[in-house]
Amino acid sequence: MSSEIKCPVCEKWSIRTGKIDDRCPNCNAQFDAVRLQYAEENRINAEKIKKDSYLIIKEGDDPVVQMFKEFVNWLRWATFYGISVIYVAIAVMIIVYGLIML
Ligand SMILES: [Zn+2]
Repeated sequence: MSSEIKCPVCEKWSIRTGKIDDRCPNCNAQFDAVRLQYAEENRINAEKIKKDSYLIIKEGDDPVVQMFKEFVNWLRWATFYGISVIYVAIAVMIIVYGLIML
C-alpha cells in the first residue's frame, strides 16, 4: 500500500513505498528517521509538561507562596491518588458486604 507523504524537511509531497528506509526523492531525507525524532520530541515534551504541572518550591519564595505551592501540589497529588483510593474502598466495601451476607 502506497500513500502520499509530506517530507518534513523540504515539505514536498511524494509517494511512500512503505519501506523502512523510505527517502524523500527531493532532498533525500529519511522519512522514518525524522518520524522517530518527532516521536522522541513528543515524548520529551509530554514528560516536561508532567513535571511542570507540579509547582517547584524555591528557597527564596515568600512563606505564603511556599505554603500555597505546597497546597496546590498536595491537591494535585490527592486528586490523582484519591481516585485510586475510592476504587479500592468500593472494592473492600463490596467484599465486606459479601462476607456479612454469607
Ligand atoms: Zn524532502
